[in-house]
Amino acid sequence: MKVKISEEKYITITARAVERTLFLMLSAVMVAVVCKKSFSQGRSAVAKLDKELQSVSFPDKKTAVYVGDALEIQPVAVPKNAEVSYTWELADDGVLTVENGKIVAACSGETVLGVTSGDYSAQVTVVAKHKPLPEDSTLPPLYYETLPIANYCNTLASDFAADDLMKIPTRYVAENYTSLYVSAATFQEYLKMLDAMRAELGADMNMHIISAYRSYARQTELYNKAVKNYMAQGKTSTEARALALQTTQTPGNSEHQMGNTIDVSNDSTTDHNYQNTPEGKWLAENAYKYGFIIRYPADKEDVTRIEYEPWHIRYVGVNHAAYMYLHNLCLEEYVELQKKAAAEADDYALEHPATVE
Ligand SMILES: [Zn+2]
Repeated sequence: MKVKISEEKYITITARAVERTLFLMLSAVMVAVVCKKSFSQGRSAVAKLDKELQSVSFPDKKTAVYVGDALEIQPVAVPKNAEVSYTWELADDGVLTVENGKIVAACSGETVLGVTSGDYSAQVTVVAKHKPLPEDSTLPPLYYETLPIANYCNTLASDFAADDLMKIPTRYVAENYTSLYVSAATFQEYLKMLDAMRAELGADMNMHIISAYRSYARQTELYNKAVKNYMAQGKTSTEARALALQTTQTPGNSEHQMGNTIDVSNDSTTDHNYQNTPEGKWLAENAYKYGFIIRYPADKEDVTRIEYEPWHIRYVGVNHAAYMYLHNLCLEEYVELQKKAAAEADDYALEHPATVE
């Protein structure tokens, strides 16, 4: 998107950055107003010449900042008391953003930040990096990518959904199941895993999808149906709800709403026997290599509060999945570790400021 920010300057920024850039524009206008005011108090033509801007520069060509921190660097105007009205130019790469009138590093990467006042401009290269973990840390290095989680205490909004949902082609779906949707990014990785599984187990291997993305409304239906079934068996509504929660989630608390979760089967049902099938065994041992986790492991029922589901896989990315697999952690435990690591990195970064290498 193009936004006009002064007479001859345009910058291209992402839609998300627009709102934040408006902050900057406002700040720039305020600076201009302040300068104008002080000028009108300056009175004489000599004073005007004295204050005429001759150059703008940055003290360094390159500067470093930690992701999440505000950039400290300021342009230097010559003469010092020159009238300036700065217009900042942020590249379209998402590395820097504007929060509360400050330029903040949003993502890691290298970018160029520009500033203009009148006929003068300057640029600085900004290197944004993630806060380092203490050197003796045994925590996962990817602590900063805290994974989204939905469970008994993390509820998704009723309108939450992946923004890249796609309909799963029928040949990947179990018989009698239609109109299943999934995140396209997740499906791409699923196909890679399927290829690897077929290469090892042979062409007659059998794994089909029976559930993937579920809307809040669909989850409401499933939960209500489960409760109704138990009540039809003579349970009280409290008992029925408790029983339903062992195998299903209340609306907003199911990971299926995220679009990155898939239930697989080789006979169109969910069955604990799946763990003993060649496909189920392969999945348990190899899914992590393709970024998937068995979300509700047998030995973590007390943590996940969901019964073991050998058929329910969630995409988290290869690095996270491998860490969880190798350290025998379920997602709840891993997210806690990530939070701990982030707090540790904050402390460490205070003593070790970001520098350009
Ligand atoms: Zn599931």
